[in-house]
Parts: sequence; structure tokens; C-alpha cells
Amino acid sequence: MAILEILRYPDSRLRNRAKPVEQVDTKIRQLVDDMFETMYDASGLGLAATQVNSTKRLFVLDISEQHDDPLCLINPEIISKEGEEREDEGCLSVPGVYEPVKRATHIRVRALDRDGNPIELDLEGLPAVCVQHEIDHLDGKLFIDYLSSLKRARIRKKLEKEARQADDE
Ligand code: ZN
Repeated sequence: MAILEILRYPDSRLRNRAKPVEQVDTKIRQLVDDMFETMYDASGLGLAATQVNSTKRLFVLDISEQHDDPLCLINPEIISKEGEEREDEGCLSVPGVYEPVKRATHIRVRALDRDGNPIELDLEGLPAVCVQHEIDHLDGKLFIDYLSSLKRARIRKKLEKEARQADDE
């Protein structure tokens, strides 16, 4: 297993659109395992392949405190949505920023699991929000895209400044 580099906004590679996984083979499972390790290492709740510069259409998720509830969804597709709520979201690619985003409260999602088996899940609350956030990544979209352009410009400035300071050290 390996810790992968997580791309940070405004890295343009975060705008790549993921391509469907054709076969869930050992290479894909290796990527999934590395992504879990990377996500746990960074104390994140979810990580999409786009964030580690892969164009595979998959993400990993674990919202448990003990890191014992891993969920991997390959070629995920939301087949129904209901309700609406606004909750603060954060993202490993936009570190230190938490802003409210409007999302569906209930979703039904169809995907393949780590073994390539088809699954369908009904999700609500935090897992539902996380899945919507991660699928956005696979479409090249970030949660800050829902904010005003003024707010997004401020976030961009802040992160660019932090990146420069990190380079200087
Ligand atoms: Zn994210």
C-alpha cells in the first residue's frame, strides 16, 4: 500500500472528468487500497480518484470514527434524490475551508463494489451528502463551485498563499 499525493485547489487536474472503470481487476483494487490508506492518513471522510490524479470513476468513503466502515463505490450513479438540506462541507483538496452546500437528504445510488459486484444503496444524512460530494469530484466539480465567485476567489487566494509558504519552508 502507498500514500498518494492529494491534489489541492486550484490544481487544474481536479477538473478532469473520470472515465468508467471497465474491469475491476487487481490494478483497480490496488488503487482502492492506496486511496483508503491515503484517506485515513489525511483524516478524511471520503476521497475520489480525481483527487489523487486518477481518471478512474471510483471513490472511497468511511464516516465511522474507528475507520471500520469502509465503502468503495466504482462507477457510481445516483438514480434518485429526495429532500434538501444545507450543511457545512469540507474537502481534503480544499484544506481548512468549511462552507454550507445544498444537497439532497436521501439518495439511491447504484455502483460496483471492490469485487466488481453490482450494488444499490439507499443513503440518508451524512453518507448521502458524502456520496454526492464524491460523485461531483468524478465530474470535475468541487463543493466550492456552489459558493459565490467572490467567496471562491478568496479561498483561492488563501490556498495559493499557503502553498507558497509551504514551498518556502
Ligand atoms: Zn472533496
